[in-house]
Amino acid sequence: MGPLEERLGEVQARIADAARAADRDPAGITTIVVTKFHPPQLVRELATLGVLDIGENRHQEAQDKAAALSDLPLRWHFIGQLQSNKAKAVRRYAYAIHSIDRPSLVTALGTGDPLDVFVQVDLSGEPGRGGVDPEALDALVDDVLAAPDLALRGLMTVAPIGADPARAFARLRELGERVRLVAPEATALSMGMSGDFVEAIREGATHLRIGTAITGNRPQQR
Ligand SMILES: *Cc1c(COP(=O)(O)O)cnc(C)c1O
Repeated sequence: MGPLEERLGEVQARIADAARAADRDPAGITTIVVTKFHPPQLVRELATLGVLDIGENRHQEAQDKAAALSDLPLRWHFIGQLQSNKAKAVRRYAYAIHSIDRPSLVTALGTGDPLDVFVQVDLSGEPGRGGVDPEALDALVDDVLAAPDLALRGLMTVAPIGADPARAFARLRELGERVRLVAPEATALSMGMSGDFVEAIREGATHLRIGTAITGNRPQQR
C-alpha cells in the first residue's frame, strides 16, 4: 500500500468514526479530495483508489486538469473564489460550484446545463476571504433560486483562522436551517477541511473538502 492509499484509508476511518459518534450514517457524507497544486497524475491515482469527487480552487488549473483527465468519470467541485469573467468557463467542466458569494456571479453563470451550487458564507468578518456576509445571505439565496439552471444544494464555509471551528460550523448549520424554510431541498453543508473535519461532521457536514490530510503536503505554489 502506497502512502496516498494509506492516508486516504486513515482519513476515511476517522470520518466513519466521527459519523458513528455523531449518530450519523457515513454514507451521507461526501468526501471531496482537494488536489490544488498537485499534478494530474495524483488525481489519476486517487481515481484508481475510488475517489471521484475532486476539489480545485483556481480556474486555470482546474480546467487544465479536467482536460487532461477527461477519460475519467470525475466530478469537479470548484471551491475557490471565482471571478465573474471566468464563470461560464468553470461551468463547462464543474459538477458543482461551492463558492457562490454575490449576485453578479449568479448572473454571470447564466443559463446552461443544470449545475449544483452552494452559497459560501463568510463567518470570519474579514473582507476578502470569499463568502457572503450572513446579513446578505437571504437575498443571495433568492437570486440563486430565481436562476433557472442553478440547483441550490446548500451552504459552504471555511472556518475562520484562530477561532473555534465548531462555533462556525454550528452557525452555518443554523443558517442552513433558515435557508431550508425557503428552499427545502437545500440540505447540504460543505464544511470541514484537514484540520477540522471531525468538528464539521459533528455539526452536520454533508460535504468535506479535504486536501493535505489525504494528498500530503502541497507542492510549492507557482
Ligand atoms: C485548500 C482548500 C481546502 C483543503 O484544505 P486542507 O487544509 O488541505 O484540507 C478546503 N477548502 C478550500 C476552500 C480550500 O481552498
